[in-house]
Amino acid sequence: MIQTIRGFRDILPEDIAIWQAIEKTASKLFEDFGFKEIRIPIMEKTELFARSIGETTDIVEKEMYTFPDRKGDKLTLRPEATASVVRAYIQHNMGASDSVQKLYTIGPMFRRERPQKGRYRQFYQINAEVFGIESPYIDAQLILILNELFKRLGLSELKAHINSLGCKECRPTFQKELLGFLEGKKEHLCENCLRRMDKNPLRTLDCKVAECREALKDAPSTLNHLCDNCKEHFETVKSVLTEQNVEFTVDKTLVRGLDYYSRTTFEILTTALGAQSAVAGGGRYDALIKELGGPETYGIGFAIGFDRLAEIVAQMINAKDVEVKDGSAAISEGNTDRLSQSNTSSDFMNLLSPKVPDIFIIPLGEKAIRLAYMWTSALNIAGIRTETDYSGRSLKSLMKRADKINASNVLIAGDKEIEDNALVLRNMKTKEQFFITTDNPVEQIETLLNRV
Ligand code: ATP
Ligand code: MG
Repeated sequence: MIQTIRGFRDILPEDIAIWQAIEKTASKLFEDFGFKEIRIPIMEKTELFARSIGETTDIVEKEMYTFPDRKGDKLTLRPEATASVVRAYIQHNMGASDSVQKLYTIGPMFRRERPQKGRYRQFYQINAEVFGIESPYIDAQLILILNELFKRLGLSELKAHINSLGCKECRPTFQKELLGFLEGKKEHLCENCLRRMDKNPLRTLDCKVAECREALKDAPSTLNHLCDNCKEHFETVKSVLTEQNVEFTVDKTLVRGLDYYSRTTFEILTTALGAQSAVAGGGRYDALIKELGGPETYGIGFAIGFDRLAEIVAQMINAKDVEVKDGSAAISEGNTDRLSQSNTSSDFMNLLSPKVPDIFIIPLGEKAIRLAYMWTSALNIAGIRTETDYSGRSLKSLMKRADKINASNVLIAGDKEIEDNALVLRNMKTKEQFFITTDNPVEQIETLLNRV
């Protein structure tokens, strides 16, 4: 039997409600904040990622799915979205029509790393990118948007960590000091870090090897080397977040795994998935657009790990013990407090309620099956969720099926009911019954269900 590739997985219909609800909530939020969606290809020229993410990063060094196409061009399955969005921005000269561009995109990314809980080789991200704004207000706003998204999803156990990496003015003096520090720690550093020391010493601060982490505990911090402009920029980000009641921790060890970041960087961390892990990360990349051949343009963005977010939401829902009845999510007693925290998280819960059939048509007899098919199609087209059954089974067995699929109503259409021109519509909860004639069942049902 052929199975999925290691690190790749199916997201099954029973889990999809959460994915769709998160996606709808995120798209709505982005649109509320003036973002437009962009869709970018899954594959790009390898060079795009090598140049933007950086040759000495984990991603480029060992995680990319790269292969020659049939003509020998080197192609890569995208490991992240920013490089592609920047490429699109440049390629379509988007800055010319409006110097400010706020874009979002949602889709799969590919990295060949060791699969484990919350880590896959095909995973999904929700990305936001803003071009053309230098102001620290936009840095704060992106963190606010993340905060608001998590609020709307009803999540609370998340922490924003922020740092500033400085700019091309202040980075060189910092790098010099860092290099001096690293020289003294050489015997404790892994091979990768020793190599990174030459090419991009900042990268060592992001090393995951325990011994390196220990050795780098007291490494100098970019925060002590910011130039006046970067300092002021970062101060504004912090004070704006404080004024908007967005909680954050300044984390001087946060450098993030990609080369293109400058000034503000941030991560949203959670302990909900066992060891502390990041559900989202982002930051400024003011040099990247020019680096990739575009005009000098400010840029900042973030990526949310969709798989991890879906996992946390699923956990939260299980913890809240949501009982699903009659197609609407009812929250069991004792858990209502946390849910009533905000209206917005109840909007999200409504999106999660399962889509059960409005009507299950029970045809009894050959003639009835054909009519049931016709009515079902007409009701589906009219936007009324309707199912029927073609097996010719008995009333008893089809009533069981109506129960199993949680149909709100059944429409009993036996040959006899058709002959008498009196179909029976029964509300499965209240047991109320209504008679329906066979000439225009769709309109009568629409009226009965208050859909007109
Ligand atoms: P990590 O430190 O967990 O490896 P990262 O810094 O490599 O994360 P980013 O490139 O910042 O990740 O991507 C943003 C988000 O995408 C991460 O915070 C994480 O939630 C998610 N993510 C990254 N890699 C994976 C993966 N292999 N599987 C699932 N989610 C991932
Ligand atoms: Mg990683």
